Amino acid sequence: QDFSTFGLMPPLLSALDKAGHKRASAIQARAIPLILEGRDVLAIAQTGSGKTASYALPLLQRLATLPPSERIPGAPMALVLAPTRELASQIAGVFRQLGRTMPLRTRVACGGLPKDAQIAAMAEGVDILVATSGRLLELFDNGHVTFDKLRFFVLDEADRMLEGDFLIDMERMEPLLPTIRQTILCSATQPPGLQPLAQRLLHKPVLIEI
Ligand code: AMP
Repeated sequence: QDFSTFGLMPPLLSALDKAGHKRASAIQARAIPLILEGRDVLAIAQTGSGKTASYALPLLQRLATLPPSERIPGAPMALVLAPTRELASQIAGVFRQLGRTMPLRTRVACGGLPKDAQIAAMAEGVDILVATSGRLLELFDNGHVTFDKLRFFVLDEADRMLEGDFLIDMERMEPLLPTIRQTILCSATQPPGLQPLAQRLLHKPVLIEI
């Protein structure tokens, strides 16, 4: 399906053109209209399916139409959680590439990267924050990040976050997030632990299986 059929704004269409993406992948064709409508989505799709752009495009469009008064330091409007630093950097790259002509700041907050630079970046301002959960909570605990302005929450590769510290971090984080928000959960597989997490985080989600 051609990207021009989704009602995406011209800056996004030209960024897609520049990236050489001509037609929407299957996950993109299904997710973009739903996310533009404001629905919560549970997407079961493999890496390589184009899942990152399937949520980045509609979220960039929705963010671009929010009033600029909401943009205050350390208060992202969109939060994307990823299981690893590598994935977080990759996701941030997609937001930056597709939003290249938009006045939206994408920041990364991950363990294993210098904390001072991340703190400075938060103070300068952040619209889209791509993070791993441990560093994110550290920045939150020290007052560098607030979830007060959060409207969009994405969990990417959620099946890789069902073990270890992530579930504990999520238990702490969930009550801190505004309940009025749009949530998108992406997973390559559907292990038993996924459903309870989805049930807790998503509101009347649409299931997309690719
Ligand atoms: P992902 O599944 O998000 O990890 O994306 C996998 C790869 O597909 C990335 O290198 C993207 O740049 C690329 N890609 C995403 N959407 C499209 C598209 N519609 N057409 C061609 N390539 C794409």
